[in-house]
Amino acid sequence: MSRRQPTLGVLGGGQLARMLALAAAPLGVRTLVVDSAADACAAQVAPLLVADWRDYEALARFAERVDVITFDFENVPAATAQWLAARAPVFPNPRALAVAQDRIAEKTLFHAIGLATPAFAAVASREDLAQALTTVGAPAILKTRRLGYDGKGQFRIKSPADADAAWATLGPQAAAHGLILEAFVAFERELSVLAARGRDGSFVTWPLTQNWHDDGILAASLAPAPHTGALHQQATAHARALAERLDYVGVFALELFVDQGRLLGNEMAPRVHNSGHWTIEGAVTSQFENHVRAVLGLPLGDTGARGRSLMFNWIGELPAATPVLTAADAHWHDYGKTARPGRKVGHATVCAADAATLHACVQGIAAALGRETQVTAALQALATLR
Ligand code: AMP
Repeated sequence: MSRRQPTLGVLGGGQLARMLALAAAPLGVRTLVVDSAADACAAQVAPLLVADWRDYEALARFAERVDVITFDFENVPAATAQWLAARAPVFPNPRALAVAQDRIAEKTLFHAIGLATPAFAAVASREDLAQALTTVGAPAILKTRRLGYDGKGQFRIKSPADADAAWATLGPQAAAHGLILEAFVAFERELSVLAARGRDGSFVTWPLTQNWHDDGILAASLAPAPHTGALHQQATAHARALAERLDYVGVFALELFVDQGRLLGNEMAPRVHNSGHWTIEGAVTSQFENHVRAVLGLPLGDTGARGRSLMFNWIGELPAATPVLTAADAHWHDYGKTARPGRKVGHATVCAADAATLHACVQGIAAALGRETQVTAALQALATLR
């Protein structure tokens, strides 16, 4: 008698869905992806159903064909997630998704679990912005409450004189998406904690990751982050509290700033996350595999790091692959996407048993690719471990 393989349904067909499908296959799990774009890159590795988020006829067919539904994209409309949840198990649950979709709801929850955030205020009008600038102060960042990602939908306000320009840029989105003004934090560094919670409430985190952004887009990640001391335990406790409050199932990332030695919550990504890509080769179990395990109710795997890893993102276009392909313990990921400015098209992860070896290997690859500036700060952080 043949064994029935479970099917994982993924809303969104980008690189995260692609890497989820690649992690699902060895577990004997099939993947079905739904995306409105016929050329979604996950379709190169898993069957794709082309449908819009509001095409309920197609979504009903999708729900019938899958055992569980998850996301590669957190901005799936909450109504779609709720509609699907009446037809198949959806993880993370639509309430968790809704909180993570709204920067104000998210920060309010952070406060409720005892995680401080940058000062913030909701902004719905030009008058609100003037008022918010007096309470939050400048410098500050005006952001859309919803639908922002990779630094999109953000305007940096250096002084109150920039308020008109900020409003001219983001004011038109205030009615549809809402806005938030956040104090600009001159943080020492950015960290993220990747966590997974199973259907049985089991909970794991990977070692903390240190991240460097360029124009709001992740440029490089180093894990385990150096010199984290008590921060790992604090970040894990916050992540666990968030997961329990939201009855969260699956992997998520909690993005943090370290400001004067203490953690501030920036945002929560209710899905596998770019700062966890290093776990594919650098951890015993990757974020993708643990997400598949979590949503299917399977036991979670060991999240320990194998040595230390550095991930570089390829934004806009792929560099030459050869310097990565020919380096020891370096791993090339081409997402199969059409190159476009600002678009994440691939990444590479370099792993090593120790910091000195990782430093030398990353320096060699970056020099060969002319990407030294992308990893200068990461190399400085690594050098403190030698
Ligand atoms: P976000 O999409 O909110 O995660 O913002 C992308 C990146 O912009 C963050 O990872 C930070 O590097 C930077 N950023 C966002 N908000 C702030 C803030 N309040 N203060 C300083 N930098 C910020």
